Amino acid sequence: MEILMRCIRCNYETGEAIAQCPKCGHALHKAHLLRAIGGIVTTLGALLVMLSAMIGAAVALMRSYPREGSSSDATFIYGLLAFVFVAGVAALIKGTRMVKYRRM
Ligand SMILES: [Zn+2]
Repeated sequence: MEILMRCIRCNYETGEAIAQCPKCGHALHKAHLLRAIGGIVTTLGALLVMLSAMIGAAVALMRSYPREGSSSDATFIYGLLAFVFVAGVAALIKGTRMVKYRRM
């Protein structure tokens, strides 16, 4: 089976087993490896999105009951969740693109 090497900088592709891109000098990566990493990044992104959504829903549910605790705590938690959610979405987009185009 031929291993396809790809440059993540200029997108040069070759079937030769060389470590460096002849066009721009950047390190070449195995295309199937990039795809595998993309799959992992996509999975992690999906997990982050689901987790933040679940925790967000749990916090919202807890907040609907009268409880102790200041509202600034909730603001902090929501801020943190929003950050995790955005990071998850970003990883999802990045990973999907890596799988699709096999580049970083
Ligand atoms: Zn290159």
